[in-house]
Amino acid sequence: LTENGEIDMFAERMVETQIRARGIYDERICSAMTRIPRYLFVSGASKHKAYGDHPVSIGHGQTISQPYIVALMTQLLNVNPADKVLEIGTGSGYQTAILAELAQEVYTIERVPALLKRAAMVLSSLGYHNIHTRISDGSEGWEEKAPFQRIIVTAAAPSVPEKLKKQLTDNGKMVVPVGDYRTYQVLMVINRIGNSFEIKENIGCRFVPLIGKYAFKP
Ligand code: SAM
Repeated sequence: LTENGEIDMFAERMVETQIRARGIYDERICSAMTRIPRYLFVSGASKHKAYGDHPVSIGHGQTISQPYIVALMTQLLNVNPADKVLEIGTGSGYQTAILAELAQEVYTIERVPALLKRAAMVLSSLGYHNIHTRISDGSEGWEEKAPFQRIIVTAAAPSVPEKLKKQLTDNGKMVVPVGDYRTYQVLMVINRIGNSFEIKENIGCRFVPLIGKYAFKP
């Protein structure tokens, strides 16, 4: 719904043509993406551009991810309603809003203060009360709040971040793009079983770099 409570035709069309048509079958995700006003997360862009089948610039050299990638990563994460989720790379806050609809609590870390400030403003204007934000280096995770049932990294990591693996619960799951940020990455799904980690590769993708102590150097 838009701020006026009207059905957002752009969001409906985006979900039909970009999300359902490409095999995202989780109704909770389709419904969240139909309801969440994506255009609010993209400052200055036309509504048409905000709902397009591509990433959109949000300033500071960063992007709001392509809607399909957001949906796919969320589906791979397989969030349960009682989960505590850690997100690395708040960016616009759009993915955060989707997680907040699906999980009990969402902890989100961003390294660019101006981006987090804007994202937090939009998220609070939409009435979310289960989102906790922090400015820091997400490659270190959020030790004080660990462990998490789910961890999602929305920037390209050079390898599966060790610190984050340790902050997963037993049977926890992490979704992270891994590879060279100058070319492309592979979306990886990591399942923790006791102290071992099962890694499955999904599709190729392109993200901005995860910059930090345990990631790419600034
Ligand atoms: N999920 C976001 C959305 O829907 O708008 C898109 C995130 S954008 C592709 C990646 C974000 O990760 C950027 O905002 C970037 O500043 C942030 N980032 C990069 N390295 C980081 C780090 N070490 N810790 C936290 N955030 C980081």
